[in-house]
Amino acid sequence: MSLWLFQTDSYLREFTARITSSQENRVALDQTAFYPTGGGQPCDHGLLSADGRQWAVANVRKDGDEIWHEVEGEPPDVGTVVTGAIAWDRRYALMRTHTALHMLAGVIWRNYGAQVTGGNMEPLRARMDFEFESMRRELVEEIEQKVNQEVTAARPIHVSILPRAEAFAIPDLIRTKINLLPEGIEQVRVVDIVGLDLQADGGTHVANTREVGGVKIVDYKSKGKINKRLEIAIVDG
Ligand SMILES: [Zn+2]
Repeated sequence: MSLWLFQTDSYLREFTARITSSQENRVALDQTAFYPTGGGQPCDHGLLSADGRQWAVANVRKDGDEIWHEVEGEPPDVGTVVTGAIAWDRRYALMRTHTALHMLAGVIWRNYGAQVTGGNMEPLRARMDFEFESMRRELVEEIEQKVNQEVTAARPIHVSILPRAEAFAIPDLIRTKINLLPEGIEQVRVVDIVGLDLQADGGTHVANTREVGGVKIVDYKSKGKINKRLEIAIVDG
């Protein structure tokens, strides 16, 4: 199993690693900064290089405990030491977008008491579903304003990896369905937008809400009496 460098340093763009396994068009590394598709966040793109050769990485997937990097062409041999480079514009856009979603969830929970039921994102564009019976179109502008106030508030975002028992003792985590975590998981990664939102989460985030820029609510859909969907776009602040 490899070391997941993106879990402790979301700003790491380049790293050195050794190929530990190779299957058809994919390789595993002893450590990686490539984020694999999961938790609503799409995977990183980028490049592996060694000895003057380069392999484009266009898909990264988690399979059990292993992270597999799909490469174009014949993959490097096991044992090869490679340099990995993350396609940074895409990744940073995803970090801003993922943090914006947590801010939206935090604002809607704090001000309206509504819970998230699902979500998805692509770079600078995302949607989130809520159990939000009192939601109506007239609230869109108000919610957008409140989220952008949190950008201006420049809240720091702290990531920590806690022993399971310690994470379960944090009352704020309970609402984010932490209790659904499989029993075998001994450590819980916690993303804390200080004073706004605390979630058990595996994704990559910016270090301060001001890095998000601006958030626009571009669409609102009622998906029934209780289920409501908001779509957001991330713009330069
Ligand atoms: Zn998340």
